Amino acid sequence: MLVNVTTNGTFVDETILRQLKEAGLDSLTFSLHSLAEPAIKKIISGARMAAEAKIPSIVSLVFTADRTDIVPEIAERCAENGIIFATTIVQEYGGGFSTVPAESKIPTQEQQRKVFDALLPLKEKGFVMNNMNYLNHATDFPGNSWKCDPNKDSFVQISAEGEGEIGVCSEVHTKFKVGEIDLKEKEWRDVKRDLVHNCNNCLYSCTYESQNPNLRGDSTTLGVIAQIKSGNAEGVERYGQLAVRALDLVPDFEGTDRIFKPLLTNPIFLFLVQSKGNQIQKKYESKSLLEFLRRSYLGM
Ligand code: SF4
Repeated sequence: MLVNVTTNGTFVDETILRQLKEAGLDSLTFSLHSLAEPAIKKIISGARMAAEAKIPSIVSLVFTADRTDIVPEIAERCAENGIIFATTIVQEYGGGFSTVPAESKIPTQEQQRKVFDALLPLKEKGFVMNNMNYLNHATDFPGNSWKCDPNKDSFVQISAEGEGEIGVCSEVHTKFKVGEIDLKEKEWRDVKRDLVHNCNNCLYSCTYESQNPNLRGDSTTLGVIAQIKSGNAEGVERYGQLAVRALDLVPDFEGTDRIFKPLLTNPIFLFLVQSKGNQIQKKYESKSLLEFLRRSYLGM
């Protein structure tokens, strides 16, 4: 079991982070509510502080239609600071955890594809928490029209209020309390099937990803998490900066050799070359390593 806490970052400081680390916290999610620059800076600075305290930190931002351009920008800023980014399409279910707005903010399939295509290269480098299945297949469910599988219990919600009621998810609740029922019992399954059958559908990333895991796709993210936990937040930050710089190279590789594209956009390769790159750069009188790579391999 992994323990994660979600915060708006208001009270995060070194003392609290140390206490959280000692208490065994596995990760800390910083929920970004405002897109004002001071708020973004504060969240990123809190997340960096957590990473330095060996707590993998994730900055999460809800994806609404009007945030189509900003979501990838925030993801890149996170990577440049050695922080993992996560998003979830806005939900308008109206079961208490979300509300039904007067005007829907759910992004169109085109907007979703644009954002997820921008996030995929960062996921490949380990700086996106969403799993590959969500990034690749969320657009298969326009208007949040996904339905969870009631035969799986990979995600359950336990209410912190009241007496610990068990929910199918954050929106759909049962009357069972913790300790009252075993999830292997037929009664639980029957109630759950009935509730799911009658629910309004959704596309919560947490429920979708728990039912559609993709461990292979998550391996790079797990690598970044392991590096932060081992105390290498600084190295992860440098790696993230290279990962973002590598993104700029991708359009230049259209139609070029398939072998060089993955190699030259791989930040581990760039990191290794850069650590020995001064000599090479001098030799070719390049202003930067990337320029050297362009000149050497693409003749640009
Ligand atoms: S589809 Fe499943 S996870 Fe989504 S709202 Fe319905 S019960 Fe909850």
